[in-house]
Amino acid sequence: MRRLPKPTISTHTVFTACSSTASPNELKQRLLNVTPTVVAFAEQYELLANLRCLHLVGRRDSIDGQVSLTEMKDLYKRSLSSRTGIARDVYDELVSSVPNRICPLCGVGVVSTLDHHLPQSQFVDFIVTPINLVPACADCNKAKLAQYPKLAQEQTIHPYFETFAEETWLFAEVLHCSPPVLRFHVAPPPHWNEIDRTIVKRHFTVFKLASLFTANAANELSSLRYQLVDRLRGDAASIKKFLHEQTESCRDAYLNSWRSAAYAALSKDDWFLTSGFLQIPKT
Ligand SMILES: [Zn+2]
Repeated sequence: MRRLPKPTISTHTVFTACSSTASPNELKQRLLNVTPTVVAFAEQYELLANLRCLHLVGRRDSIDGQVSLTEMKDLYKRSLSSRTGIARDVYDELVSSVPNRICPLCGVGVVSTLDHHLPQSQFVDFIVTPINLVPACADCNKAKLAQYPKLAQEQTIHPYFETFAEETWLFAEVLHCSPPVLRFHVAPPPHWNEIDRTIVKRHFTVFKLASLFTANAANELSSLRYQLVDRLRGDAASIKKFLHEQTESCRDAYLNSWRSAAYAALSKDDWFLTSGFLQIPKT
């Protein structure tokens, strides 16, 4: 949903820092041995992510038969995610790189964790690789769990590699009921290729964004009642102008946010502009 700048810290730096306090020394040596592999895999990851081909990344349960999945998970926990970990500053830097701490996967929740875009349980090589660590809210982290793409069309949006922000693909419609309801859907531009079209649709489904956005829009509608009924005195032309300005303001910040889609739908809906707004209940 929201693009994030790619982490500038290298995989080599992070892996080396994490390995530096590993014990016993025999494990530290094995980690040292696999460092070139982890760096090479990260380079391949970046290449495939740019091509929207992360489904082609191979699953492994050990790094070159030398470092096990359990050892890598333990390394992540002790060195990166633990508050006293040697590389905790990297974890904090990734989390704080998000504007306003808003989750890039849903655009609603507050970032509270790092999500392994390719899950730890299947992709041992990327457990401490910065470009695989995506800041996320708890709900998005839980929604995805250990899902990973087996086919190109099973991918979801990767915020470090997202290029979907330039064109509108999220829309809403106003359901003419009391109270009015906003229903959201994804309609990518027709000139996008089939894989890109599927990725944004799948993202919308995996992270359960339809219900999340509808709930947030209902809350927003409640706060609009005073403006539309009392300040603008129910004048359709004034309401349309106000909602259009809100749309432009929201779109300037994030083209595909639920707010942009909601205001665009409200500003174009004749029923809402003339009488539907009166159905917003006073809280
Ligand atoms: Zn989220």
